[in-house]
Amino acid sequence: MEKAKKSTKRLAAAKELNRVVGEYYLECAAAKDAGTPVGWMPPMNGAIEIFYAMDLQPVFPENWSPVCAAFGLTPKNFEVSENMGYSRDLCGYLRNIIGYVNGPMTDPDTPLGGLPAPDVLLSPGGGCVPVMKIFHALERRFPEAKVFKADLPQVAVEEIRPHHVEYAVGEMQRLIDFLSEVTGRTLDPDRLKEVVALSDQACALWDEIMTFRRFVPAPFSAAEIGIMFVMVTRQGTRTAVDFLTTVRDEVRARAAAGIGVIPDEKLRLFWDNIPLWYNMGLFNYFERANAVVVAETYSAAWSLRLDPEKPLESLAMKSLQSYPLVSCVSIEKRKELVLKACKEYAIDGVVFHRNKSCVPISLGQMDIRRALETELGIPSVIFDADHMDARNFSTAQFQTRVDAFLEMLHQRKGR
Ligand code: SF4
Repeated sequence: MEKAKKSTKRLAAAKELNRVVGEYYLECAAAKDAGTPVGWMPPMNGAIEIFYAMDLQPVFPENWSPVCAAFGLTPKNFEVSENMGYSRDLCGYLRNIIGYVNGPMTDPDTPLGGLPAPDVLLSPGGGCVPVMKIFHALERRFPEAKVFKADLPQVAVEEIRPHHVEYAVGEMQRLIDFLSEVTGRTLDPDRLKEVVALSDQACALWDEIMTFRRFVPAPFSAAEIGIMFVMVTRQGTRTAVDFLTTVRDEVRARAAAGIGVIPDEKLRLFWDNIPLWYNMGLFNYFERANAVVVAETYSAAWSLRLDPEKPLESLAMKSLQSYPLVSCVSIEKRKELVLKACKEYAIDGVVFHRNKSCVPISLGQMDIRRALETELGIPSVIFDADHMDARNFSTAQFQTRVDAFLEMLHQRKGR
């Protein structure tokens, strides 16, 4: 098994992030102790803002998986789920969370205190099959939790029509009614507007931060992508806005001063698919060849805006786009997004992570690769790995392919 490697970070905000992450999990535990209802839900959907507006505690089992990978907890969790009969071919998030809730969850020494048991489960009616199955398994594991079965149309972003939004608004209202009934809490419409405004500010800051990566040299690399933690867990809070403002200010100052990730940036790379959460140090590997990963598909997921004056419509739209890299986008659209990003960020080469654990995001990579070559003349390399399971990654294979690829890119650029 590959040894977990942490990435070397250059942003001072990275230290601030550790505090934000720690405080979030402390808040989750404290909420449970104080009797605040805790709801487990998939990430990137409009339920988050509704939870914060109703003073309920949102928890994200999918997001807990990268934390487990960073703390080296995944081998134990995988052992538990595999002993229960879950195949190694299944999504690593699924195997990790099922292993965790059926194993180490009750261990008092779990880093960050672990996850508090759910009082409510928001079971998605969309996204990918593994994410739906995670929640079906959680329903069996926590039979006392009240379950809300979401029912949203699976429609590609470019195909969303007014009747889809109207239906999704009805679903948001049904969720609010459900939460009022099972928790006894009501939703103040003005508070919801405030929360949606904060969420929109976070999205605007996110977009602004990403634009500074177009500078040459790039002020930060994919090694810092953990900042997305606030976009997953803290949307609709002042915490997210304050943290992202700090990041934006630092990144803007670095870009203005021409301070790059490395002093002599020669190659700019794009990363496709989820990072290897147990080996974020991989992003620093490219730097020995003066190459920097300056953009990635994953970070495009939060590029959306919300209108505080139309909070339910905004949250409905957000929920319809909640799996922007998976079921809510066609391969054609993904291709368009990757090609556009490669032009905007002046990319020299693309690194495709063919993810054994995530078929939905790996699907279409060959089409995108062909389009990059024929339409933009941008070469790419593919390596096999897994975003959660270190057993499916070979450092030797990665280094051999990447070294040859970077050498070829240098030769091309030299010419
Ligand atoms: S999108 Fe991929 S990584 Fe996320 S839950 Fe689905 S299969 Fe797993």
